[in-house]
Amino acid sequence: MAGLAHLVEMAQVGLSDQIARPRIAIIGGGYAGMAAAVSLMDTGIADLTVYEAGPILGGRARRIPGGNGDEDNGQHLCLGAYTELLKLMGRVGADPEDLFYRCPLSLLIHALNHPLGKKSKSLFSLRTIRFLPAPLNLATSILLSSGTSLGERVHTLQALYQLKQQSYLISPGLTVSQLCDELGIQGVFRHFFWESLCLAALNTPPQFACAQTFLNILQDIAEGHQQASNFLIPRTDLSSLFPEPAAQYIQKKGAKVYTSCAIKQCEPAGKLIRVVGTRHHSLYHHVILATPPRAASTLINGWGEPMHDLGNQLRSLPHEKIATLSVEYSNRRFRLPFPMMGIAHSPIEWIVDRSYLLQQSSAKRLKDSSASDTHGSRFTCVISAPHESSNLDKGFLTSEAHACLQSLCGPLPQPNASRLVVEKFATLSCRPDIHRPQACTPDPRLILAGDYLQSRYPSTLETAVRSGLSAAALTIKHMQA
Ligand SMILES: Cc1cc2nc3c(=O)[nH]c(=O)nc-3n(C[C@H](O)[C@H](O)[C@H](O)COP(=O)(O)OP(=O)(O)OC[C@H]3O[C@@H](n4cnc5c(N)ncnc54)[C@H](O)[C@@H]3O)c2cc1C
Repeated sequence: MAGLAHLVEMAQVGLSDQIARPRIAIIGGGYAGMAAAVSLMDTGIADLTVYEAGPILGGRARRIPGGNGDEDNGQHLCLGAYTELLKLMGRVGADPEDLFYRCPLSLLIHALNHPLGKKSKSLFSLRTIRFLPAPLNLATSILLSSGTSLGERVHTLQALYQLKQQSYLISPGLTVSQLCDELGIQGVFRHFFWESLCLAALNTPPQFACAQTFLNILQDIAEGHQQASNFLIPRTDLSSLFPEPAAQYIQKKGAKVYTSCAIKQCEPAGKLIRVVGTRHHSLYHHVILATPPRAASTLINGWGEPMHDLGNQLRSLPHEKIATLSVEYSNRRFRLPFPMMGIAHSPIEWIVDRSYLLQQSSAKRLKDSSASDTHGSRFTCVISAPHESSNLDKGFLTSEAHACLQSLCGPLPQPNASRLVVEKFATLSCRPDIHRPQACTPDPRLILAGDYLQSRYPSTLETAVRSGLSAAALTIKHMQA
């Protein structure tokens, strides 16, 4: 009977082939999948369905179900250089100027070695100057930064000038630590500028991180448009930032979006591709596989031998963790001196003043005007690429976070609640020896999308969005061929 149903289904799709638009499935409703979906629906040439395994769209950048309504799986930071993400947000009606807190690139690092209850002083501070054009804004901020010697600052400027002369291209295979050694960059500046930025942007420790990828970002910050170096911190949850407005946008144009529908099978069925999920199944002419690499490797098993090498490559990609702790003081309103502060001598690298940011968003104000008032103060603390031996115990990290907050804001009551989320496969480990796959697979009807694919950037929201756009373009090319 199942075989007969399949034949009928194929005949129906075959018939609709003659009269209707090609059927495309996107598996995965993260930033890559939703970017591909928006791009395809804008062409108007496809009949599209998005399948997402989780109950909420967003993937590794999503709102946590059962949280406060605005709590995410991890604190994200974007850059003004993330041009495609910003454009696409605008296209689906999610105004980046409202949904992001925008500020000049700011590295404000405090030390956690002061007696408890006493406010600490800034150890290092660098802020680009808003009104100066690039690259003058970065150069001036380096020269005016505090906490380092004039010699170190001048040396970093010379190193950046040297890199600019060689178009930011270096010999392949170098790590960020090796690059700093080659350029003779040492001391405080190395630690708080080069290495801090590397860990924040690549989520890979500098001794392993790919120097060329780091320089690609540095080049965009230094040489891009005036606002390319801006920090953009979300003022809403990560699902509302882009994936959910994108879903509404494509649904209005006729696309179907299924959440809580994990795809179990994806395999060729004659001229079509059979996609079987927990709640739906159908046949498609093209499939964009926008899942993380391990899930993609399982799904392409249905192709057998032709996808064997690709499957091995996808399975072998190494990843880095990120731990995010959210700490709440329900009856006390207090603010950090700046919405995002770096912490030295602590497992916590960054603390973000979440309640301040949420309070700033007019979208959030409209949704729930009393949210910030009732929730007191909430902070998210980021622990990037923790080592295997790092202590990720929630109690330990909560007391570290409390100590950091006291050193920044003065004596405080104990926090009322905390939540720890450890994402084991947060990002691709951005190492120079890693061979990132391409979007094309041995079957032109199946295209990959995701932040792990070949890119000049590390695994970021921008990389995911760009890969989604490329996957859509490739699919259209194959459709036309
Ligand atoms: C804690 C944390 C902090 C981060 N910080 C930053 C940051 O500061 N800045 C930045 O730019 N980036 C950051 N990133 C990286 C960023 O979140 C990712 O690069 C991006 O979200 C990847 O998007 P994607 O669409 O490629 O993959 P994903 O988001 O992983 O999307 C894949 C989707 O596929 C779905 N899926 C999997 N299997 C199936 C199946 N069988 N059927 C149907 N659906 C399936 C998944 O549920 C998921 O929704 C961070 C990531 C984490 C985890």
